Amino acid sequence: MEKEYGVEELIAHVLNLMGGQGISDNDYVQKIGDEYGSAVSRIVVYISTFIAFFNYLVFGDEDVNISIFKNHSSFIAAYDPRRDMYSVIISNAEKLAKERYLGYVTDFNEDGSFHELFQGVGPFLLSIALHEVRHRLQKKKRVKMFSCNRITRDKRINHFIKFRKYLYAYEKKTCREGHVWKKIIESRYSPKEFDADFIDHYFSAEIIGRGRLSLSEIRTILLLSPIRLFNE
Ligand SMILES: [Zn+2]
Repeated sequence: MEKEYGVEELIAHVLNLMGGQGISDNDYVQKIGDEYGSAVSRIVVYISTFIAFFNYLVFGDEDVNISIFKNHSSFIAAYDPRRDMYSVIISNAEKLAKERYLGYVTDFNEDGSFHELFQGVGPFLLSIALHEVRHRLQKKKRVKMFSCNRITRDKRINHFIKFRKYLYAYEKKTCREGHVWKKIIESRYSPKEFDADFIDHYFSAEIIGRGRLSLSEIRTILLLSPIRLFNE
């Protein structure tokens, strides 16, 4: 049977396996540490290494292009489809290091009942990286996207999709009422984001809820397809 990893084990394994491949320049990591503190440089190294690893899991040994920016947007990480480049943003890693992320992830059962799972920093950083790699898979047309009206044969998956659909409707309404610029709402709640948000949510529920996942199970989640689920 294939080895399964708990969150901490997975993180240790990935860091060891990639040997800091996310950021090849160790002096630069040192510089970030000197300027922002080791907690911030650790977050930056973790996210870039996780991105490099997930990218490797689905694209094989293709070169991975990750840039580190000091200040940019409100995201910790992003994928730029035009330049085919991932980025990690230090100022937002700094925010995360200060706030510490104490969030919950909703997990669903087949019958639609649900419960909340505590999401620590580790699973949160893994899910961010997974989200960005899903965006690259969308761009490279390696996956069919999940949309808000998609119904699959997997009853549990359908609850995740429905949840995301209502969440998006609610958040979009709140944004409109708060007079957020229409273009910002459209890009934040686009079909691409719906698909990537659904995938990272499902991954978090799986790894936290089950406690352990094998690398091929993670790969399967990254490549999850509504068509494949439908045909099974
Ligand atoms: Zn996204």
